[in-house]
Amino acid sequence: MVFDNDYIAEQFSLLSKLMDIHGENSFKTKSYAIAAFTIERFPDQLSGIPSDKIFSIKGIGDAIGKKIIEIGETGELRLLKEYIQNTPPGLIEMLNIKGLGPKKIATVWKEMEIESVGELLYACNENRLLLYKGFGEKTQKNIKETIEFYLRNQGSYLYAEAEGFATAIDQKLKQNFPGEKFEATGEYRRQIEIINQLEWVTTVDPTNLLAFLEKEGYSTQPASEAGKIIFKGPENIALCFHLTDQTGFSGRLFKTSSGNEFLQAWELAFGEEESMIYPSEEEIFSSKNVNFIPSYLREKPSIIERAKQPLARTIQKEDIKGIIHSHSKWSDGSNTLEEMVRACIEKGYEYLVISDHSKSAFYANGLVEDRIKEQHQAIDELNTQFSPFKVFKGIECDILNDGNLDYSANILSTFDLVITSIHSNLKMSMDKAMLRLIGAIENPYTTILGHMTGRLLLSRPGYPVDHQKIIHACAANQVVIELNAHPRRLDIDWRWIEYALEKEVMISIDPDAHSIGGYKDIKYGVLVAQKAGITKESNLSSKTLLQLETFIKERKKVKGI
Ligand SMILES: [Zn+2]
Ligand SMILES: [Zn+2]
Repeated sequence: MVFDNDYIAEQFSLLSKLMDIHGENSFKTKSYAIAAFTIERFPDQLSGIPSDKIFSIKGIGDAIGKKIIEIGETGELRLLKEYIQNTPPGLIEMLNIKGLGPKKIATVWKEMEIESVGELLYACNENRLLLYKGFGEKTQKNIKETIEFYLRNQGSYLYAEAEGFATAIDQKLKQNFPGEKFEATGEYRRQIEIINQLEWVTTVDPTNLLAFLEKEGYSTQPASEAGKIIFKGPENIALCFHLTDQTGFSGRLFKTSSGNEFLQAWELAFGEEESMIYPSEEEIFSSKNVNFIPSYLREKPSIIERAKQPLARTIQKEDIKGIIHSHSKWSDGSNTLEEMVRACIEKGYEYLVISDHSKSAFYANGLVEDRIKEQHQAIDELNTQFSPFKVFKGIECDILNDGNLDYSANILSTFDLVITSIHSNLKMSMDKAMLRLIGAIENPYTTILGHMTGRLLLSRPGYPVDHQKIIHACAANQVVIELNAHPRRLDIDWRWIEYALEKEVMISIDPDAHSIGGYKDIKYGVLVAQKAGITKESNLSSKTLLQLETFIKERKKVKGI
């Protein structure tokens, strides 16, 4: 294998960048950067030059020359390999993001303790970058936009990101083919949190669809089975069309918008039907004497048995009565308390639980004890001004390394609600994570366990936890589990909620809003909550103001706090 100049130059360029990220001597890192520059522009291929001649090339000394020979012989650079091994892959990925040079990445890593692109995007949304030298408002905005662009090019999207695009293309198709049927299906119809491709069932003629989409800049991809065409366009998201006729439409819709496990159980119970001819999806169910199961619930086989009886009404967006978990300008939010109150009233909410960060979250301007007193005074004033609307005094309290909270009982007792979350030292074993989480759950002041695993969808897997044990502990201590509605969190995972409900643990759908714009995320929490079959009775943020006041009072009495 012969390695060309571009390849060799790339090795040196990456080496120089990684050394900069690690804060190595700038004289050394610069010499590698210069070598990359020289090699890239060198008129002849280095691979064709005898080893002993390489050292005499202008700008290439002994050290660099030896490395060029090493690459030529092995295709690799040992030193670079070592740096790659010692750098979190997310940081290397960040080098692809325009505007983020090695020096900035070093700050991101060492000071912000961020190791992946997704985490960095999340930090931009929380305004965290502004606290660091070299990161102004403009830089933060640029980084945010570039990351969004970069992630869009990876092919998988958060539901919330795919949504706007799905709606737009759906409208376009329906407008262009008024006589044909198009119905969104697949992951999108099932309200799955991550969308790998957008799917439709359609009666359209494939030749016409092809002509239309090609005009729009899409090209066809090899499809895996007959009756299906896949396109990819400039947005890099796959569009998959299931082709059928009028009579087969409902059957195809049913099959493509049911999860695998569900579909297998269905076919086991009622037999496999090769061609499903039904006038509507409803009639597929009624023909089997089963109540209609919406596609978002077609996941676990157990739902089929349950649907022989009428299913409970699942939660809807309008069942959310107040905003629980939100940050104001007092910590890392973008709006003042008053602005947040006004926005709540305008949207018809009855209350707001303000939960700024606690003092350990120094990066988020967490509240030291004196500022809590001041904030409570401000809340009291707002409550007089805006009555009957109510702001509850809450806090998002950091769970420390030993499972303790970062305020004394004296301070904790001044809050109506305490949300406890882990924000630091996220890289830990399950034992360590469980020690911290159980410690927090057993603390009598904890009302809600915030974003349980710390995951950021498509960017950070979250620390390992024993879901069952946490749910048992929450049941024993009457702690509510948050369903963080931020579309990148959606944590607790909806797949565990059914178990929590079985154990009579209450869930709270919370937007974790860092601005009034963040209230809209409630919607994404509700969508996954529906997948878990949550009713409004099991959701804390569905309580009316009066009910929440009673809940808080009774809880404090039971806990003796
Ligand atoms: Zn948090
Ligand atoms: Zn928060």
